Amino acid sequence: MSIRLYDSLTRSLCELRPAQPDGIFRFYNCGPTVYAPAHIGNFRTFVVNDIIRRLLELEFGANKVKHVRNLTDVDDKTIKRARDEQRPLADVTQQWTAKFHADCASLNCLPPHVEPTATGHIPEQVDMIAVLMKKGNAYRAADGSVYFKVNSFEAYGALSRVKERELQTGSALKATPADADEKEDVSDFALWKAHKPEDGANAWDSPWGRGRPGWHIECSAMSKKHLGETIDLHTGGVDLLFPHHENEIAQSQCCNGTPFSHHWYHSEHLLVDGKKMSKSLGNLYTLDELVAKGFSPMALRYALLMGHPRKQLSFSLDSLHAAESALKTLRTYRAALDGRSRAEATTTFAPIFTALADDLNIPGAFGALFTIVNRGPAGVDLAAFDRVLFALGFQLAALDLPPVEAPAAIVTLAAKRWAAKQAKDFAGADAYRQELTTAGWNMKDAKDGYSLEPLKP
Ligand SMILES: [Zn+2]
Repeated sequence: MSIRLYDSLTRSLCELRPAQPDGIFRFYNCGPTVYAPAHIGNFRTFVVNDIIRRLLELEFGANKVKHVRNLTDVDDKTIKRARDEQRPLADVTQQWTAKFHADCASLNCLPPHVEPTATGHIPEQVDMIAVLMKKGNAYRAADGSVYFKVNSFEAYGALSRVKERELQTGSALKATPADADEKEDVSDFALWKAHKPEDGANAWDSPWGRGRPGWHIECSAMSKKHLGETIDLHTGGVDLLFPHHENEIAQSQCCNGTPFSHHWYHSEHLLVDGKKMSKSLGNLYTLDELVAKGFSPMALRYALLMGHPRKQLSFSLDSLHAAESALKTLRTYRAALDGRSRAEATTTFAPIFTALADDLNIPGAFGALFTIVNRGPAGVDLAAFDRVLFALGFQLAALDLPPVEAPAAIVTLAAKRWAAKQAKDFAGADAYRQELTTAGWNMKDAKDGYSLEPLKP
């Protein structure tokens, strides 16, 4: 299997492979801002990235993947939340970090190997800004804020094609009113934000005065610290493509003088009932709200994977019902598999991995999976099926197992065996038992009858 994934920078499908001779695949995924519970739109990105992580592990080996995902724990939103609640910033961000971790665990997302925080990497960010100042890519404004000079980076806009968009619409590079006066050019963005009264105690010393880092620089600094100057894959939701990822490229490449990431991948938005999620529409679901409605976190994971990750997906409560039912089918199927490995078993599920490795064609993988499941459990290897469950991240133990009803053919076979046994035709009875075993069923004999159960590992 080789994993091919769409690259947002070259706009083509490219194979994922580690560039460094140590064979470690370096993977950076922009993480959450920890000031409130993440909503299901956020989790679509994290669940899709979890599939990428799992495929990378299957392809290169679990110890050959290094996955870094940051926590944004200082910005306007986190500071506002702390101020509104009259609590220290760290108190608020720790609370929501713990909640994010609990939600990720419920959704069976593998934790990243390193989860750095912005406030834990202030010196690294200051160092990077200092290099950008020295190289002439940044300047200090009158108020003590430091800005990146977008015109100093020739390749700016290559990822988002923002300059082309600007020529077409004249509005792509808009200044935010708050800092418009301080900047030399409207397209410049903040690397360091001078302290304002509303920031309270949330400020650090720097060569340019007290303040806090701009948002974009944290990912450049933390990626460099934990993965090196050039990484293999950088991902995030499509909303981060511009300006966040464009700015990360500009900062990292100007500072380091090396390419930043070999590959860029963006997953698309989640819609709810066909509409954009928003507080005013009341459709910003959290995991807890869906659990309170009686849905399992695994059903949410499944529902978030129902569409192609590079296409918008419309989520609905109906899709959760469908997900619950699909997972129960998988659970029943797994219970009917026995633990013996068979020669043909490894190829049974190959179409699923082929689909996943083909630009994360998850709908294609689901289609292939249910084609196999609908053929029945006979001859299918449990370990091979569990590898599929690992790739998709489905934790079936968390679901309730409905009683398993034996198909009509199995019931008939059992009746024939019972009759043979009553007639003392033991060779015949053994042959029927063998047929039942092959089909994945066990017949438990009692004095005056029998029962059927799916074979378990
Ligand atoms: Zn980022």
